[in-house]
Amino acid sequence: MIYFSTNKSSIPVSLKKATLEGLAPDGGLYVPSEIPRFLPEEIKLLEGASFNNIAFAIAKKFIGSDIPPDKLSDMIDNCYSFDTPIVKLDSSTFVEELFCGPTLAFKDYGARFLARLTGFFAEEEEKLITVLVATSGDTGSAVAYGFQGIANTRVVLLYPSGKVSPLQEQQLTTAGGNVHALEVKGDFDDCQRMVKQAFVDPTLKKSLTLTSANSINISRLIPQSFYYAWAALQLKELYGYTAPLFSVPSGNYGNLTAGVLAKRMGFPIGHFIAASNANDSVTRYIDSGRYDPHPTVTTLSTAMDVGNPSNFARLRYFYHNDHTSMGIAITGIAVSDEETRATIRSVHDRFGYVMEPHTSVAFRALERYRTSEGNTETPGIVLSTAHPAKFLEAIEETLDKEIGIPSNLHELMEKKKSATLISSEYKELASFLNGLDQ
Ligand SMILES: *Cc1c(COP(=O)(O)O)cnc(C)c1O
Repeated sequence: MIYFSTNKSSIPVSLKKATLEGLAPDGGLYVPSEIPRFLPEEIKLLEGASFNNIAFAIAKKFIGSDIPPDKLSDMIDNCYSFDTPIVKLDSSTFVEELFCGPTLAFKDYGARFLARLTGFFAEEEEKLITVLVATSGDTGSAVAYGFQGIANTRVVLLYPSGKVSPLQEQQLTTAGGNVHALEVKGDFDDCQRMVKQAFVDPTLKKSLTLTSANSINISRLIPQSFYYAWAALQLKELYGYTAPLFSVPSGNYGNLTAGVLAKRMGFPIGHFIAASNANDSVTRYIDSGRYDPHPTVTTLSTAMDVGNPSNFARLRYFYHNDHTSMGIAITGIAVSDEETRATIRSVHDRFGYVMEPHTSVAFRALERYRTSEGNTETPGIVLSTAHPAKFLEAIEETLDKEIGIPSNLHELMEKKKSATLISSEYKELASFLNGLDQ
């Protein structure tokens, strides 16, 4: 399989190159030259298969012979050593809990796979890859724990001092080994500016192979299609549903784009709902055909506060820049903070289920979609992107009750923090990077 840039002016590359490069030289995002198709009989064979077997079947189509099958299979078992539960709320409403990985958010699915592919390709190239990432929370922790202990790789992550939650800070600063946390006296924009500068620093280029691990990397996107296929096949197997709706809480739209891949591969998936908060650039595009990104506004579902989503370029590419055909497959629904809070309450009252804000946005969007279609029975799957413990404050305040945190989090909270405090001047980052072992 070869990979093209969405901007179409860079030369097509192998998966290895696309993975190690991240962004194409022409500034576009890599997409597969064609989306692999599963024949109906191949899909039939996967009904009732385990998550990891489905993941392997999909990964193999994208990877071809670039990674030996037994190696790939080991990598997948190593990535997904946790469950992906599908909880039934009523006869047609399901929640797919994508928060059972080590950092309790769905970003583990992409980051863990990316880490293993990067390690494999780096070893082939006999290189040591340095992953440089600026984070305001979830991405950095998934990357830290994803790359932990992966040979031929190391991670340097920058986070703004005092601007991440205590739980997030623990996740960012306790992976140890090949993961270095830099606590920056500044804000997230400072962290991002410093990382950008490092990528264009000619002195660093001579001594380090730098790469980024944000959601534009194709090897973070491919594995996110696994859980769509898994849920669709489970619903078919257990309930006979053949075209469930997926409601996807969206920020950078990587998650939704992976769903589009899964559907095009041939898995039994119906319509998509792109659920957003007040940051609704894509929703407005689908409705009007005009892409007019607004500045980011802060909401209750912070991980979705993205004014100009990076994966929109891919989504647009898959629908040939045509908002009408995108609109046939995807309905965009924007949900306010007020509705999000009301949903956290009503889901708790009706089902006794504790839902965090991002998932609640998607749940509410599913309800609104069904009402507008006049059919409340259409089977629907809400993707739950984070564990409630990650957003304890917002939930406890909304429900006016204590939730508590799971026992493995107590363990995490007790681990010793290890971070290097630096100022927001680029030269401090450069000197840290220059001081790493070659
Ligand atoms: C990152 C994130 C999202 C948004 O996912 P995208 O792929 O960027 O659209 C939603 N919810 C949570 C909890 C996240 O961490």
